[in-house]
Amino acid sequence: MPTRTMPDRRSIISGLALLAGTAFAGAAAAPGSALAQAGNAAPAVAAAPLPVVATFSILGDFIAQVGGDRLALTSLVQAGADAHVYSPTPADARALVASRLIFINGLGFEGWVNRLIRSSATKATVVTATRSIVPLKAEKKGGGHSHAGHDHGENDPHAWQSVANAKLYVANIEAALVTADPANAETYRTNAKAYTAKLDALDAELRAGIARIPADRRKIITSHDAFQYFEKAYGVTFISPRGVSTSAEPSPQAVGRIIRQIRDEKIPAVFLENISDQRLIQRIAQETGARVGGTLYSDSLTAAGGPAPDYIAMMRHNLSQIVGALAGA
Ligand SMILES: [Zn+2]
Repeated sequence: MPTRTMPDRRSIISGLALLAGTAFAGAAAAPGSALAQAGNAAPAVAAAPLPVVATFSILGDFIAQVGGDRLALTSLVQAGADAHVYSPTPADARALVASRLIFINGLGFEGWVNRLIRSSATKATVVTATRSIVPLKAEKKGGGHSHAGHDHGENDPHAWQSVANAKLYVANIEAALVTADPANAETYRTNAKAYTAKLDALDAELRAGIARIPADRRKIITSHDAFQYFEKAYGVTFISPRGVSTSAEPSPQAVGRIIRQIRDEKIPAVFLENISDQRLIQRIAQETGARVGGTLYSDSLTAAGGPAPDYIAMMRHNLSQIVGALAGA
């Protein structure tokens, strides 16, 4: 069997490779030749990828999952960097000008992006990936901390921290790609459906994992108030000395309030985050004796070799950190 199919597959692959090469170069195969016939059968193979921009790495991953190799994707804020306080570069403006679609999170997450879009004079369509998502208010209930000096709006922008919302991001991305590039609509729909099934499995995994933690231990202190959507979806309480935006410093009163809260409510663990100053967290842990867990990733993926190279890996990593710190009494 293998000895018979191998030569056929080889000739098909090399034929496609030649076809793509000739189509991009604008060269014409002789009419009636094998290459010309193959070209008529598969014209979409040679189409140039759609140039699109994502503002940050998590959104870029959603787009890549739906668009696959049909897109030439640029993510502006790189993995590990803070999208709240990003300073755009001239290369970012050029990427906007060259793009057909610009995907943003919205909900006040990218305070810098609207000015960048205006100043670049791009003709691209701007797609707000959180469209149709019901936002949570930025003010954390019972927190009582001031938001003076923060550059975000009234809504909490970290909507992707609930997998149900991630599915809405994917649906919005799918719709935008189908509209902009109808020739590849079937690919986008197929990819979105497959990825959404993976997100459903992820959601079930998160619920099962949290269920292993005793209810009275589902409490976490973290340095960046980015987990309200996770909290509401999965029933873990996140308490933070900071506001929603990482650009604001906590007041001494806010820190004192958190330290008292850890003691009063017997909060088992303190978690560090990849994009916040960790000295504050260490001080709280020392004064309260709360366990310092590993790193939770909230606003950014890690580089390819890291623990959160894509959204699903990020959520699984966070789950394992949370369960590891809270489940064992
Ligand atoms: Zn954030």
